[in-house]
Amino acid sequence: MEAFDLLVIGGGINGAAIARDAAGRGLKVLLVEKDDLASHTSSASSKLIHGGLRYLEQRAFRLVRESLHEREVLLETAPHIVRPLRFVMPAAPGGRPWWILRVGLFLYGVLAGKSRLPRPGPAGADEIALGAPLKGKPRLATYWDAWVDDSRLTILNAVDAAEHSAEIATRTELLTARREGSEWAAQLSGGRNVRAAMIVNAAGPWVAQVLGRRLGSASESGVRLVRGIHVAVPRLYEGDHAYILQNRDGRVVFALPYGALTLVGTTDSQVAAPEDARVETDEVAYLCAAVNAYFVRQAAPQDVRWSYAGVRALYDDGAASAKDVTRDYHLELDEGGGPKLLSVFGGKLTTARALAEEALDKLGVKQPRWTAGAPLPGGDLSPEFDEWLAGIAAWLPAATSARLRTAYGTRLTRMLNNAASAADLGRDFGGGLSEAELRYLAAEEFARTAEDVLWRRSKLGLVLDGQEQRAVADFMASARAA
Ligand SMILES: Cc1cc2nc3c(=O)[nH]c(=O)nc-3n(C[C@H](O)[C@H](O)[C@H](O)COP(=O)(O)OP(=O)(O)OC[C@H]3O[C@@H](n4cnc5c(N)ncnc54)[C@H](O)[C@@H]3O)c2cc1C
Repeated sequence: MEAFDLLVIGGGINGAAIARDAAGRGLKVLLVEKDDLASHTSSASSKLIHGGLRYLEQRAFRLVRESLHEREVLLETAPHIVRPLRFVMPAAPGGRPWWILRVGLFLYGVLAGKSRLPRPGPAGADEIALGAPLKGKPRLATYWDAWVDDSRLTILNAVDAAEHSAEIATRTELLTARREGSEWAAQLSGGRNVRAAMIVNAAGPWVAQVLGRRLGSASESGVRLVRGIHVAVPRLYEGDHAYILQNRDGRVVFALPYGALTLVGTTDSQVAAPEDARVETDEVAYLCAAVNAYFVRQAAPQDVRWSYAGVRALYDDGAASAKDVTRDYHLELDEGGGPKLLSVFGGKLTTARALAEEALDKLGVKQPRWTAGAPLPGGDLSPEFDEWLAGIAAWLPAATSARLRTAYGTRLTRMLNNAASAADLGRDFGGGLSEAELRYLAAEEFARTAEDVLWRRSKLGLVLDGQEQRAVADFMASARAA
């Protein structure tokens, strides 16, 4: 039976980041994901790399400081999939007093320390333009955070793990694992059995179920499952900035630029099971009402072009309401008198790299940390790379070139593989999605189905029509069969 140093359960951001870090420190790692990488919470987020301005109200200063530090790390190591995003915060009648907002923003700037992003402050010269899409003439403050392609962040962590010799097994479920002497004996779907010296349970919303039903252990920690949904509607405003809106119930709602759409989120509803990740009509109405209170252009549920739901597995700190439960993560180590088991509760995309470091410390891994300065695959952008890209502008359309650069960064050279014309990329499936890109995704990024390509490795599901999507599905099926 094959033996590993570490078996990671779950191919969301936390499992992928832990697998990457551990593999880079020389451990023999197997990551199992029952579906596709990032197919659950890690593709259903607000897509922000942020300190979390509102967590200051919960006095979560450690989390905010760590997140702001990680924001800098990600801007540096993954500049293709992470970009600065300016936020506009209007004052709201009946909302938090203006001086509190100013103090909060000041503190946010202080906690960020030395940052590559501008400090928070009043809107300045473009106040009129930023206020124009809004009803009335509210006072405005602005600050900067960052935007990320959440599923690609997860997948690139897994790609890097694999490049450091980890095995990434998608569509592979951990069925059961039991301690046998100094090792875990694990049964996987597909009839495979493996042994592992340590297990990390990074099953996200399934963390407690995996502990109880698969690993036969009663967790000491409780988990609160909190669903958040997003809707995308035709643009509520022009520009590439975002708005953070104070809602009447004390929550904040984001309006985020998303191509030709505005992405609006999120909600906080406590749910009973991980499978409750669905979009409810009352939640859609809630988000529409939240933006309609601010914007001149209005959004109705029938305007929604795309929606999605994700379930957070939050560490239960006993808070009364879902919105007040801590967003900080909690790592629980169970040594059980034998091989170790570490379970991950909560966490954010933003802090996954730091969480992985802490997880490996807790597991007693002694090899030095390495990820803080290491680019994620494709993240080593350079002027030379952009020159090369400019050099193929004669045959690669500008829109496709821009999409590919922000998705793959310097890995584009591998994907294009010395192509000298559009014809060299093979068939175009629509939206600039070529046969060469599909082959690359299957070979290098663990893509197996059309869904994997259209919704997680790209968002071309928003662009391709039904017939084009079926053609992608056929191509992926024939690639699997080959
Ligand atoms: C609405 C919403 C908005 C958010 N916005 C932000 C944001 O803007 N910025 C930010 O930093 N964070 C944000 N977050 C938080 C962030 O998305 C999550 O913390 C993160 O994605 C959790 O990742 P995970 O790896 O723990 O879980 P998941 O991504 O859910 O991954 C767990 C994986 O484990 C797999 N699994 C489960 N059981 C098994 C098994 N038995 N065998 C094999 N695999 C198994 C599942 O299939 C799943 O893919 C948001 C979360 C939500 C819900």
